[in-house]
Amino acid sequence: MPKAEPRAEPRTEPRAESRAGRNDPCPCGSGKKYKHCCLDKDRAAEMAPAIAQRVALQAQKANQAAQQEETLAALQEAQATWQESQALDAASNAVVDLVHAGRLDEAERAAQALLVRYPEVHDGYDRLGMVHEARGQLREAADCYRKVVEFARANPEDYDPEFVTSFLDLIAKLEASEAEAGRAVNDANDTDRSG
Ligand SMILES: [Zn+2]
Repeated sequence: MPKAEPRAEPRTEPRAESRAGRNDPCPCGSGKKYKHCCLDKDRAAEMAPAIAQRVALQAQKANQAAQQEETLAALQEAQATWQESQALDAASNAVVDLVHAGRLDEAERAAQALLVRYPEVHDGYDRLGMVHEARGQLREAADCYRKVVEFARANPEDYDPEFVTSFLDLIAKLEASEAEAGRAVNDANDTDRSG
């Protein structure tokens, strides 16, 4: 790559090497031989731009390496997050399968384990609610779903408004069923007393 001479040096001035031989008197007039006087300084001045360029290149390479490392770290973090979310989905789905299979005690233990292992997500409460619902424990189910709603409201950036709405609907239905069941029991008691 052709490199322009430093501007400070006039074009007409010959290069240091050709200006004076190593054993000639130094052009600076010191009376010393050039090699014992200004030769090193002149050489250093000649080489300075090339050295500066090399240093700049090394800095650029170091910068690129650092950027690559940053990118790699970000990728690894994304992968770890993805794997964790896959594991969570699998564990969460396993509870659903257990509920559908009617294995409710196992499902409850699995849901409790979800709560312990993934306290930063709502899934444990959601699944525990499903277990209670499957057992007909409507009030307990509604309590779990209320925790889900609480969770979503505390982390609005992670949840759609529809998510909260759907759980509120579910809670309202459970409460209505619970109230109806309560009335039915009261009616039965009334009938018993009257009969
Ligand atoms: Zn000199």
